[in-house]
Amino acid sequence: MNIVLLGAPGAGKGTQAKKLVDEFGVAHISTGDMLRAAVKNETKLGKQAKAYMDAGDLVPDSLIIDLMRDRLSEDDAQRGFILDGFPRTTAQAVALDTMLDELGKSLEAAVAIELDFDIIVERLSSRRTCSNCGTIGSKDDVSCPKCGGEMIQRDDDKPQTIQNRLDVYAKQTAPLIDYYQGQDLLVPINGNQEVDKVFADLKEAIE
Ligand code: AMP
Repeated sequence: MNIVLLGAPGAGKGTQAKKLVDEFGVAHISTGDMLRAAVKNETKLGKQAKAYMDAGDLVPDSLIIDLMRDRLSEDDAQRGFILDGFPRTTAQAVALDTMLDELGKSLEAAVAIELDFDIIVERLSSRRTCSNCGTIGSKDDVSCPKCGGEMIQRDDDKPQTIQNRLDVYAKQTAPLIDYYQGQDLLVPINGNQEVDKVFADLKEAIE
């Protein structure tokens, strides 16, 4: 199973990716998580990416494409993968096609989680993330429901950054819907539903 998850920030890509990984044992490849780890560890990539991320802008394609090329070659990705947050531009999607060709792999689906904009804004502003294990929760979670870690608000989930992230999505990432439609890979899913219902629809659509 090789799948791309598309959707605006806050559409539930991370949550659905984790459920797919639990069910199918494939690799969860989240460029956002990889970049946040790089920032935390103060690596060269982290230092290059931080200012873009803080502003809610996209990190340059060249950095992300190199990161993804290395990640797709790792052992766990050979069992299949869920790409969460990549590609985010047409240039990244074209590069992904080339990388997969070189690896003798192909995509089975590009799942687009669709959701009303007002729900997205509400979700992003109330979203909290475990500083220890990355579990996604809400402002009602006093501590992480999974590991007990501290739940924090991502800097880019603060109100001043949310609007920019949504503008960036509309301008740079939404065109990928047409890109994958053109490849006959697009699977639209209604994200305005309970998490488990979204997952049930998603599973039915890809199985
Ligand atoms: P996410 O957790 O997927 O919302 O990503 C958080 C931030 O990381 C984004 O707002 C971007 O700054 C950066 N980022 C993640 N994935 C990509 C990507 N594929 N291309 C460019 N920037 C990315």
